[in-house]
Amino acid sequence: MSSAGNNASNGASAAPAYEIVDHTYDVVVIGAGGAGLRATLGLAEAGLKTACISKVFPTRSHTVAAQGGVSASLGNMGEDDWRWHMYDTVKGSDWLGDQDAIEYMVREAVPAIIELEHYGMPFSRTEDGKIYQRPFGGMTTRFGEGIAQRTCAAADRTGHAMLHTLYQQSLRRNAEFFIEYFAIDLIMEDGSCRGVVAWNLDDGTIHRFRAHQVILATGGYGRAYFSCTGAHTCTGDGSGMALRAGLYCQDMEFVQFHPTGIYGAGTLITEGARGEGGYLTNSEGERFMERYAPSAKDLASRDVVSRAMTMEIRDGRGVGAEKDHIHLHLEHLEPALLHERLPGISESARIFAGVDVTKEPIPVLPTCHYNMGGVPALLTGEVVTEKDGDANTVVPGLMAIGEAACVSVHGANRLGSNSLLDLVVFGRSAAKRCAEILTPGESHRPLPADSADYALSRLDKTRHAKGELPTAALRLEMQRAMQGHAAVFRTGEVLSEGVENLATVWGKRDSLGIQDRSMIWNSDLVEALELDNLMYQASVTMASAANREESRGAHAREDFPDRNDTDWMKHTLASCDENGKVDFAYRPVTLNTMTNEVQTFPPKARVY
Ligand SMILES: Cc1cc2nc3c(=O)[nH]c(=O)nc-3n(C[C@H](O)[C@H](O)[C@H](O)COP(=O)(O)OP(=O)(O)OC[C@H]3O[C@@H](n4cnc5c(N)ncnc54)[C@H](O)[C@@H]3O)c2cc1C
Repeated sequence: MSSAGNNASNGASAAPAYEIVDHTYDVVVIGAGGAGLRATLGLAEAGLKTACISKVFPTRSHTVAAQGGVSASLGNMGEDDWRWHMYDTVKGSDWLGDQDAIEYMVREAVPAIIELEHYGMPFSRTEDGKIYQRPFGGMTTRFGEGIAQRTCAAADRTGHAMLHTLYQQSLRRNAEFFIEYFAIDLIMEDGSCRGVVAWNLDDGTIHRFRAHQVILATGGYGRAYFSCTGAHTCTGDGSGMALRAGLYCQDMEFVQFHPTGIYGAGTLITEGARGEGGYLTNSEGERFMERYAPSAKDLASRDVVSRAMTMEIRDGRGVGAEKDHIHLHLEHLEPALLHERLPGISESARIFAGVDVTKEPIPVLPTCHYNMGGVPALLTGEVVTEKDGDANTVVPGLMAIGEAACVSVHGANRLGSNSLLDLVVFGRSAAKRCAEILTPGESHRPLPADSADYALSRLDKTRHAKGELPTAALRLEMQRAMQGHAAVFRTGEVLSEGVENLATVWGKRDSLGIQDRSMIWNSDLVEALELDNLMYQASVTMASAANREESRGAHAREDFPDRNDTDWMKHTLASCDENGKVDFAYRPVTLNTMTNEVQTFPPKARVY
């Protein structure tokens, strides 16, 4: 564990005077997306007194935006097998995924999805009433021979259906929800997590939660980038809290990009738009993809198109006043075709870019879509850190699941529809693990007297910040540094410039100014706290990318174009101190499966 950290017993600065409301639970879950809700439901079913804290109403979490579906080798629409799903996932991860965790996920996929069905999730159906499954990129049968139909869908609203089902079931089991509460920081004592301090946005009160286990389910940090498909709430608060507690984030250099997010808003324009004949141009009106990929052109793979777009912008051929984006043309297509095949896209372009696709091009940019990295966790959800040379040392009292965690089942790149699966499988396994190690109503040790000081000092300092720089300005500077230096075009030079740019941004944090000093619905203060979380993650992402001198999965270095298994088949662990300084440790990749056929929980055969 790095030396930085908010170890409560070490004491922070003198505590500002805030009245504190105390709560005691067996388990506290931070986050009510798919991962947090699945854990909450399992915990409540196990009879554990459970609180779920969320900064937004549960069904507004980013999971609601997931359309495509959730993978599981049910074999409802053709032959399938968990081994084929495992093969695809290991290959997709570019051999960085932990194979025991992948095996666990793909095998547990089947019962986890059937359970969702029984909870009432309204899946689309086949003629004979089974769960409908669609094909998805990278999902094959017979180890790459055929195309698998593995992705279970509820029309194009799978995430929406999942959230509503899990929320309703959790309420039915009497889980307690703290909605529109913003978790500020973890309460740490001698390397263990004892609880969390949160702020009720609605009435301005401060709440201290004491728990035997705290589960981070706070989602990804896409908003560290200028362009991201995630919601504005995707600021990775849990990973920020973990880094401030002196813990590591794992494999943060691996960030998945989609070539066509709407410039500014980030809203996704599906690949289908180019499939129907759409094409990209630069400021000279040139169809530049013909140069980069003469045969596939605009339909080359996502990373090739994203990199080509970035090269054009870097070479000064971007469009717009800042020359920082690209045009996607659909106006040459028949309006009837647009209306029939791409109605959603036409609507998104109108709402988010003010563009009529029948008349003008859509401004687009390669857009951050998913964070493979996160808080390192075992497949039981338990967070690990490096201590005395052992990178699998469990942090007592802390778990991480969902996009906030790195288990790592996605390794260097995630396959579509494997994330929703990750949420339910590991949400469920974290709940099972808690049921195993905790007894409902078990007594708690008292918290140290200064347990809320660290969180409240940070809150108070930010709330009274009197500098001249608004949060939005500093955030934009960080987002531009990330978009320009840690997106799809990566070289040692570009990345080290990025590290310098972020150091400059970090230096300006003291100049931040907050206008609103109230405690009630102070969005100015929320955004400043979120920016702080983003800054920690931006720093570890940029530094980890500069550090990894190879190309693997989503991390493609122009100066190191090959994968280097000899030196780099290992997970990066990165910590970040309060000055933005990043330190590294490493964790071995698990290349063995759990057991050949016999499954145990938790797995006994975890050999490194
Ligand atoms: C547009 C889009 C489409 C996608 N489509 C698919 C798909 O089809 N299939 C697939 O498998 N994956 C898809 N993904 C990826 C997948 O949806 C996400 O990885 C997943 O939903 C993340 O879920 P989560 O539970 O980890 O976090 P989220 O759903 O992001 O939820 C995070 C939760 O944490 C809470 N929270 C965060 N910070 C705090 C704090 N400080 N205090 C209190 N609460 C906090 C929030 O309120 C929220 O409840 C898509 C992603 C996007 C953006």
